[in-house]
Amino acid sequence: MLSIDALHVTYGGAVQAVRGVTMEVPDGKVVAVLGSNGAGKTTLLRTISGTLRLHRGKVDAGTVRFDGTDLVGRDAAQAVRLGLVQVPEGRRIFGRLTVEENLRAGGMGNKDKTAKAKAQDRVYDMFPVLKERSSQRGALLSGGEQQMLAIGRALMASPKLLLLDEPSLGLAPRIIGQIGEVIAEINRQGTSVLLVEQNATMALGVADLAYVLDVGEVSLSGDAQELAQTDEVQRLYLGHD
Ligand code: ATP
Repeated sequence: MLSIDALHVTYGGAVQAVRGVTMEVPDGKVVAVLGSNGAGKTTLLRTISGTLRLHRGKVDAGTVRFDGTDLVGRDAAQAVRLGLVQVPEGRRIFGRLTVEENLRAGGMGNKDKTAKAKAQDRVYDMFPVLKERSSQRGALLSGGEQQMLAIGRALMASPKLLLLDEPSLGLAPRIIGQIGEVIAEINRQGTSVLLVEQNATMALGVADLAYVLDVGEVSLSGDAQELAQTDEVQRLYLGHD
């Protein structure tokens, strides 16, 4: 489904954020990308979602293909139309808008009213708390609820591949567990997921496959359960000695 080959990305012609990454997201799977700050995880998502140029980044070499379509040079609106929707780091919901207005904003590109209503029902089924609070302003939600809203907003565009950038950031362990369950449920309902995370426990728990990025390069990759057993992942990302 998503296929990245020998990708090189720079910012301002100088900072090499991604250096020769090759990666696959097979249809129907959850794929996790782990790595410390500055490893290039967000840059990878920006390249896929068409937001790289907004951050003055540029693909220098390599290919990114989604269902056979070349994504390099496309903008975010085109990516959304192809079925690629990103939930940005830090959630960025509209605090002054109500929960329902936030969701509607996510479905704006979709002209089909019936499909939109169906997508909204699906979001409310998945997140009953959003239904309860549908007329409240986004700013009044807790951090966990705002993350749910950001994910719900992305689902309104009916993505084929959902791109999640550190959904666990700043949330309590119990809430992180809920986010993991939500990701698993979204996947069960047929959406593939590319999950960028620093929380390796959650990410490897929910993912089928995983990649570890280290200063812009893939240092490890494979089956998520098997990677969780490797010394490097245990030591660096799971906090074991
Ligand atoms: P984090 O978890 O901190 O977001 P990350 O793994 O997502 O880390 P990136 O944000 O992709 O890493 O950053 C990779 C490298 O690119 C870093 O050295 C970072 O400083 C640099 N970088 C990211 N965005 C820009 C930008 N807009 N302009 C210049 N350099 C950037």
